[in-house]
Amino acid sequence: MKTQYTGIYRLLIQKHNSDIVHLYEHVIIQSFKHTLEQRGYSLALCGNLHGETFREVCFIEYMFFDENVERIFKDFMSNKSRMLDRYVQNELEVIEAESKSHLLIPSQDKLQKKLNEIDSLTWIDASSNKEIARHIATESDQIDHTILSDKRSKKSFRDIAILIGIIDCSVEEKLSFYGILPIIYNSLAKSIHELGMYELSTSPPRYDDDYNAMTGCIIFSMKRGNHTTASIQKHINSLAKDMDILNHQDELKTYVSNYAHSARTVSFPIDFYSYAGLVTSPSQVAEQMSAISVQRLLEKCVIKTVPATDYLFEQCVN
Ligand SMILES: [Zn+2]
Repeated sequence: MKTQYTGIYRLLIQKHNSDIVHLYEHVIIQSFKHTLEQRGYSLALCGNLHGETFREVCFIEYMFFDENVERIFKDFMSNKSRMLDRYVQNELEVIEAESKSHLLIPSQDKLQKKLNEIDSLTWIDASSNKEIARHIATESDQIDHTILSDKRSKKSFRDIAILIGIIDCSVEEKLSFYGILPIIYNSLAKSIHELGMYELSTSPPRYDDDYNAMTGCIIFSMKRGNHTTASIQKHINSLAKDMDILNHQDELKTYVSNYAHSARTVSFPIDFYSYAGLVTSPSQVAEQMSAISVQRLLEKCVIKTVPATDYLFEQCVN
């Protein structure tokens, strides 16, 4: 049984400024997520999209749990003009947080024109493409700083951690926490992304002996002064309630089936033991994940925003 649908698209960008393409990569990922949400999908349960922009090539890699989501993605990528302009401003902020640099934009009009030009290029489905070629940078590959340039300024940015925990766990809850933490991370990432913050890393689920708790941690960077830990906390306070798993039961079933049977989770028993002292398997974890028990567990989650410390970075894997 096929449990996940993966692939890579690529765009050749030799004639374009790779910083602008990086912005474009961010904007089309958000535009696609919007398309999916419009169709009633929950982003937290669908899988993942990941973009990477180099000087000459931009890649977008996907992993979805549902064949229909892959089909929607392929349709989206084969369209001309996929980009929704409304995401440009927020993604500029996210990229500033990602690179810890201020972006200088002498002309918004020129930037928009360039983005439209890039959006009219054709993405290639790299999995079905047989061509082998090495593209060599040319003169025209030089970065044009009259449209977008950056100024490193690490001090103007700070890192924030969001701690997730379930205190006084039963064994069933411990198991279930393993399965739902990626859903919580996806959901937090979406919520925090809207604030122009960039996700740096996440921790595996860990057991905390003192509180008989399961915990997780996700770290973001942001521009100083944009938000406080209190305002971020306010933004994410109702996150667990808003997820409303009961309205996405089919998607949860697909997610759980992937968790139980996919190659990606085969090595998880080592993590279950080393981080939580549990001798178990992904299929036993999956068994705990009925819609009702997942919703109940989400509501029991305590979520707390704190400044990121070296200790919390150590808890996270890159
Ligand atoms: Zn980026």
